[in-house]
Amino acid sequence: MKLVVQKFGGTSVATPKSREMVLKHVIRTKREGYSPVVVVSAIGRRGDPYATDTLLSLLEEVGGEVPARERDLLMSCGEIISAALVAALLNAKGHPAKAFTGGQAGIITDDRFGNAAIKEIKTDVLIDAVKQGYIPVVAGFQGITENGDITTLGRGGSDTTAVALGAALGAECVDIFTDVEGIMTADPRIVKGAHILDTVTYREVTEMAYNGARVIHPKAVEIAMQRNIPVRVRSTFSDSPGTLITCGPERLITGIAHIPHLAQICIKVPSDDRSVEVRIFRMLADAGISIDLINLFPDLKVFTIKEELVEKAVGVLEGIGVIPEVVRGLAKVTVVGAGMRGVPGVMARIIEALEGENIEILQTSDSHTTISCLVRDEDAERAITALHKKFEL
Ligand code: ADP
Ligand code: MG
Repeated sequence: MKLVVQKFGGTSVATPKSREMVLKHVIRTKREGYSPVVVVSAIGRRGDPYATDTLLSLLEEVGGEVPARERDLLMSCGEIISAALVAALLNAKGHPAKAFTGGQAGIITDDRFGNAAIKEIKTDVLIDAVKQGYIPVVAGFQGITENGDITTLGRGGSDTTAVALGAALGAECVDIFTDVEGIMTADPRIVKGAHILDTVTYREVTEMAYNGARVIHPKAVEIAMQRNIPVRVRSTFSDSPGTLITCGPERLITGIAHIPHLAQICIKVPSDDRSVEVRIFRMLADAGISIDLINLFPDLKVFTIKEELVEKAVGVLEGIGVIPEVVRGLAKVTVVGAGMRGVPGVMARIIEALEGENIEILQTSDSHTTISCLVRDEDAERAITALHKKFEL
């Protein structure tokens, strides 16, 4: 049994015409002698009737807090609708198919609703279906707890479903079908000259993904790397091979990624009172506020948070008598390059590129494989384009 997992994202299943393309890829794979296992996302994007954000917007009328369990149950419906429809379409074309919820497909998670982790995949149901000649169509983004509660895996969770299933089933390959031709040197919606990378390493794409390139979810790449599963990112709307993610040589610079809508928090503290620092970070952590771009000086603490969390964070900080300075409307632009370690001059070129566009850098941070600059949201597109050009990507 040669299995291939094929995951189709929201735009791929959005319209009758795009679903026609989905069927084409699945049926061709079957004709080539593979057993396809299909994973689908919810239909369409924000505003479309069955998209996840649309389902979530129903909860606005609740006003107050919605129980996490019920929120997940509602959110899981989009993928179930999509799976039922795609399975029905395959059947109508004469290819026996069966739709499964994540739980029915054996995906067991912990009970962290909204961001659950897969603990185990019981593959017998899917294997039986394949042996009986069915194409399984699995609802992405979801699982079930040992108690039988439906959970969701967080944004981009269908990618995780696909790769985790691929690993559990021992698939030859996991294909992530989407609305672009592959993983590109920058988001093609922003940089017109962005081009497709034929191959990237797990590490390169993990860094791109964690730094905002949402084309594939970083958790999915991590599972693929641990289990050494080849993953391809390719277009539903063409036959081109897309990008193959594997081990291999790393480039100096892979691409440019970005995360918009951040806020910078600056807190002045008396440098002789270390306990304030401890309280600040403990309180933010306990409130579930994730912080990034952290720079600590004896009398100054600087970091970024998602802009949507500003009110919450300020409330928490004021609660311990700390008055932060907040700068909203920022973006983190990151140059990713697994091969940049120890290579001189990368920072100099970044500064030159942004200076040449008269873009102010509010903060920077770096790792072995990334250099990030905090800029204003309205400068982000120009910054990404200038960096893309400077590094001749
Ligand atoms: P899907 O619904 O198929 O999961 P996503 O919207 O999650 O699709 O991911 C595809 C989108 O990722 C593309 O439309 C593109 O705008 C965006 N993207 C961001 N960075 C990159 C990149 N470096 N390469 C390719 N696509 C990117
Ligand atoms: Mg996606």
